[in-house]
Amino acid sequence: MTAPLFPLFVDLRGRRVLVVGGGAVARRKVEALREAGARVRVGAPALEPTLAAWAAQGAIEHAPGRFAPSWLDGAWLVIAATDSPAINRAVAAAAEARRLWVNVVDDVDISAFHVPARVRRGPLQVAVSSGGAAPMLARALRERLERELDPTLGELAALLARHRARLRAAFPDTRARRRFLDALLAGELPQLLARGDRDGAERAFDAAIARAKPERRGHVALVGAGPGDPGLLTLRALRLLNRADVILHDRLASAEVLALARRDAERIEVGKQAGRHHVPQARIHALMLEHARAGRFVVRLKGGDPFVFGRGGEELEFLRAHGVSYEVVPGITAALACAAYAGIPLTHRGHAQSVRLVTAHCQAADTLDWATLAAGRQTLAFYMGVAELPRIRERLIAHGRAPDTPAALVENGSHPTQRVVLGTLDALPTLARAHGVGSPALLFVGEVAALAADLHWFGAPPLREPLHAAA
Ligand code: SAH
Repeated sequence: MTAPLFPLFVDLRGRRVLVVGGGAVARRKVEALREAGARVRVGAPALEPTLAAWAAQGAIEHAPGRFAPSWLDGAWLVIAATDSPAINRAVAAAAEARRLWVNVVDDVDISAFHVPARVRRGPLQVAVSSGGAAPMLARALRERLERELDPTLGELAALLARHRARLRAAFPDTRARRRFLDALLAGELPQLLARGDRDGAERAFDAAIARAKPERRGHVALVGAGPGDPGLLTLRALRLLNRADVILHDRLASAEVLALARRDAERIEVGKQAGRHHVPQARIHALMLEHARAGRFVVRLKGGDPFVFGRGGEELEFLRAHGVSYEVVPGITAALACAAYAGIPLTHRGHAQSVRLVTAHCQAADTLDWATLAAGRQTLAFYMGVAELPRIRERLIAHGRAPDTPAALVENGSHPTQRVVLGTLDALPTLARAHGVGSPALLFVGEVAALAADLHWFGAPPLREPLHAAA
């Protein structure tokens, strides 16, 4: 790969820039340069009408005749925009010799700098460049940005610039300032500007500043990360991940999801996985408190949904007891993700009238109401059930569920490595062992599990008999 261009925004106010060429292309360049406040000298034997008018007004300087290196005197920047490749090359060579930055229109090879495509909203500018590799692509992207960036962004930027000193005074801490701005932008102010209500926007800004306590108290957002595919995150989760100063995450929160978080957020893994290194819940509580009390925005990121076997409730109780503000963002829980990605419609008509989310965690399993769980016309979704599979089978059958009730295990649901093992309640433990199913996996018991045979769409088809494991 060739080295990328280094982007710059240059202050041209009062600085001389030489444009060689007197046609329409040169005129467009001169127009942009004048807008940026440059003192433009145009060198060309003749000028097209607009350029000529500007020269007559004294708005630009005209150097007549054929290119002479003396035109470069006093210039900071040079643009060659003639229709003669030979002249453009001569200009480029002369500029290089004087270490002046030169751009040759439509010739990336001899240009020392490129002029990017740009989108402008007041003081806010977005510049797009492909480094000459794919100008059409850069242009298409520019057009897209032009459509997507709200026209009032410029006013917003101007408003913030006007109040910069006040903002700094109210929030000396950059993190607090950033939080305030995030909240401001998520509020009514942008809409007021979009409606053209400038006074309203000013008032909204004043009110927001007045409301903001010099707040040093942190905040914890308990966020569901879903089953791992970033596409299954909620927009709110994504926004908070972009705001986080600190992220305390489970092992189940995938690398792909974490990659979407604010780059400079501190990431701390507090994963708890059966049998492996274990961060005690008390330690997680202590970490949340420590970071919140330091005034940080903490995202406590949990696999699936924070309130489904995620101990989210305990964490909120702890935060409440310690006076830390919090919020909760739901996530797609494993049962829903696994069902969707395995093709198991949880409440398929005629098969099931209810779904139960059940923990098969060893201590909990002893106290489950097996008689109710064994009743028909319902779908059971067991979390943390791989190790408990033989016992689940034994108890359900002992309490009257038919041994040939369909059952499915979904391992790594919604991940590219997803596997589905499908069989009867009776045979599933043997089948799962034969296929070496490991954690995380979700167990479905109920007639709907059989539908995965026909409705599966993601990854490999369900595994049904141990002999076919390698097929
Ligand atoms: N709060 C999480 C559940 C945490 S308990 C949620 O709402 O999904 C952990 C259990 O969730 C695992 O033992 C497993 O049974 C299940 N699980 C989580 N992610 C899974 C996945 N991608 N595929 C299958 N099961 C998963």
